[in-house]
Amino acid sequence: MPVFAERWLGYTVAWSGTVGKQVVVHIPFDNHFARLGEPFFAKAQPMPVTRPTLIKFNVELARELGISADGVGDAELADLFSGNALPAGAEPLAMAYAGHQFGQFVPQLGDGRAIWLGELRTADGARFDVQLKGSGRTAYSRGGDGRAALGPVLREYLVSEAMHKLGVPTTRALAAVATGDVVARERPLPGGVITRVAGSFIRVGTFQYFAVRGDVAAVKKLADYVIARNYPELADAEQPYVSLLAAVIARQARLIAQWMQFGFIHGVMNTDNMSIAGETIDYGPCAFMDAYAHQRVFSSIDHYGRYAYNSQPGIGLWNLIRLAETLLPLFADDTDQAVKIAEQHLETYKDQYEAAWLARMRAKLGLTAGAGSDEEDRALVAALLDIMDANEADFALTFYQLSRLAAQAGARDQDAQVLFAQPAQFDDWLGKWRERLKRESQSDAARQASMQAINPVYIPRNHQIEAAIRAAEDRGDYSVFYELHAVLQKPFVEQAGKERYRLPPEPEEVVSKTFCGT
Ligand code: AMP
Ligand code: MG
Repeated sequence: MPVFAERWLGYTVAWSGTVGKQVVVHIPFDNHFARLGEPFFAKAQPMPVTRPTLIKFNVELARELGISADGVGDAELADLFSGNALPAGAEPLAMAYAGHQFGQFVPQLGDGRAIWLGELRTADGARFDVQLKGSGRTAYSRGGDGRAALGPVLREYLVSEAMHKLGVPTTRALAAVATGDVVARERPLPGGVITRVAGSFIRVGTFQYFAVRGDVAAVKKLADYVIARNYPELADAEQPYVSLLAAVIARQARLIAQWMQFGFIHGVMNTDNMSIAGETIDYGPCAFMDAYAHQRVFSSIDHYGRYAYNSQPGIGLWNLIRLAETLLPLFADDTDQAVKIAEQHLETYKDQYEAAWLARMRAKLGLTAGAGSDEEDRALVAALLDIMDANEADFALTFYQLSRLAAQAGARDQDAQVLFAQPAQFDDWLGKWRERLKRESQSDAARQASMQAINPVYIPRNHQIEAAIRAAEDRGDYSVFYELHAVLQKPFVEQAGKERYRLPPEPEEVVSKTFCGT
């Protein structure tokens, strides 16, 4: 039988089976985006997959969202989260958006392999979008197959959930499913579908889509929707659209400061990958750094280092300028006047970012704002990062070891020293840090506890993610994925027997490039 017929059969069986039995997974949908009308999206249907198997269902998140799935079997969850069956109230669609990709404007992108199922409302009134990724072609797929390989699905699941536990705003992972189908990439790979949940899937590129078409009415409609949905406190502002820009600037400044604090490199900060809700979105070729370098790049497609670690704050501003451009007609009738208004707000980004960055870096080093001037503390942090760069010191491990040092020199100093090829450089810095600590009033124990609450023991390291993917892809073994996921649930807590998860890769384990998996 041709593959298509088999697939179709699988689809109808799963579909009618679920409908016939009544859908027992209840998702409290309350869809507003779907009311905006067709130019904002194209209706879509998930394409059937052959043999969906549930890899992971995020029970904790489901509970938070008010999704009831008690007693529902894995097979049924796999049908649902592969797109073979739809939950009641879903209105599947693909969102339209444009975007600057590596600086080049593309007027039409859109959800080419993602399908928005609906918008849910929790008991306390919070709203979230639910989306399948890898669920087949849509009106925006262009030449693509609309599918995702299993590897990137596992990677996004691990990294986005780790981000959440680190306290960084992010899309969440609700479920991961293996499809039983093969996707054609450089080589044939097993397919997967991830179900993601976001405060919003609207991006800077969504605004660009309508702005480039000169459709000011649509830009306004979109802005009104975003305000009502994500920034309700701005609805009564004197200038709600200006306030919207200001609010997005504030959230992005804080978000990128948080990425920097954990050594996170997004990898593809295109305007279509920047969320209007200030969440980390679209985990493609991202990575948490092991060996520190100011200009570290992982993404296999970032040939010129546009999205290198230290370039991220500047690119954040570049993207926000693109957003401001789309909103100008809503600011004032006179363009010069509108530009002036936008500039006033964009100019605050740098200070907001630097304040957020300094606050977090101070906390990472156990320093409080009152005890040292901004300039001297900024210089102390910069000096540490410079010697980490010169020595390629492991990012997370450096702060982990510092969080365990006393205010006086001691035997533990060695654990930090060994991370630096030139220990004299580190000793010199350590002396300066201890001088600075003399002006802090906390006890060693209290300072160490506060440092350990911000410097994680465990981050999703690339080589460990890779090991989880290899086991799953090559051997159908998900135990490595499950164990890594479990460790990352408590990133700040030392876990007995899990020491190896805090260690950087051995030379032969180093992953120097990450891929989009498109
Ligand atoms: P990304 O690099 O994942 O941010 O995707 C950029 C654009 O390419 C978006 O419009 C995606 O929907 C689209 N895209 C990426 N991979 C695929 C695929 N396999 N099939 C269809 N569209 C895709
Ligand atoms: Mg994207």
